[in-house]
Amino acid sequence: MDSGMRRIAIGAMGGTIAMMPDETGGGVTPSLTADDLLAAVPSLTEIAEITAVTLAGAPSPHLTMADLVAAYQFCVAQAECGADGIVLTHGTDTLEETAYFLDLVWDRDIPLILTGAMRAPSEPSADGPGNLVAAVRAASCPELAGMGVLVVANDEVHLARTVAKTHATATWTFASPGWGPIARLAEDITVMMRPARRPAALPVPDPRQVKIPVLESTAADDGWAIDAVAHDNPDGIVLASLGVGHLSVPARDAAVRAVRSGLPVIFASRTGAGPTLTRAYGYAGSESDLLDLGLIGAGYLTARKARLLLHVLLCAGHTDLAAAFAEYGA
Ligand code: GLU
Repeated sequence: MDSGMRRIAIGAMGGTIAMMPDETGGGVTPSLTADDLLAAVPSLTEIAEITAVTLAGAPSPHLTMADLVAAYQFCVAQAECGADGIVLTHGTDTLEETAYFLDLVWDRDIPLILTGAMRAPSEPSADGPGNLVAAVRAASCPELAGMGVLVVANDEVHLARTVAKTHATATWTFASPGWGPIARLAEDITVMMRPARRPAALPVPDPRQVKIPVLESTAADDGWAIDAVAHDNPDGIVLASLGVGHLSVPARDAAVRAVRSGLPVIFASRTGAGPTLTRAYGYAGSESDLLDLGLIGAGYLTARKARLLLHVLLCAGHTDLAAAFAEYGA
């Protein structure tokens, strides 16, 4: 019988939200299934008609590209079966990357929400149950449809494109530096902002591990790490560069050697907020110089998200990477 409630699919991927201490008294490890998560919050069934599936019982540092592609396939299958919204529970460490990866390939309009927890269910102030309720409410909210993949935590809704884990332990860790949340949950869900455009979905990549290291540039960077990595046959290099996209002269020279050897070299800002620029500075190693020398700016993407975009673009056989970064990096 149709309950009239919205149908929400939950896919559990592990993380602190699903972790418990074992008998040995060591730290928490993933042990809870999707059914356990559901059983811990009985009120969920008053919000929506829930289907819960355990996809992976992993701490997020253990998740592979194959796990991410499997999560995507779960989401597609649930959408095909008529789900009105989808929630993935996930470790917070790499949650922003899974969210962004899915956002690149997700072409549906139903809300696809990622959530997690900073405190394990065994802690007195566990945040998992509240985040799960909030995520299911958000996944049931028609106003949040068509916005791509979203992250819900601490009663805020963030775009996958902008969200980042910004604190190692705080429950308010998820933020969109330089942008802010697009919606908040209180008694109701108030959607305050809607992105003006959503770039077209890209093809799902081969889950093989493409080798794209992220190197953070530092003061007095001698370029050694760039040369060392470039000689080890990566598929590309992402530099977390200084400010709006700057490198020391030795780092710039090493990056140019990498470009001339045929590698795509992307520069993002290591500041964590704000874009790489194109024409503000003109010295050797400045953003305009790097662009003239064939490097590609990541725009508003952080280095770790630029790495995922490069992975997806390379697997899709994109040849005009600069144009693609201009399109997806905003
Ligand atoms: N490192 C674990 C993970 O990302 C714990 C962090 C968390 O879940 O919040 O799965």
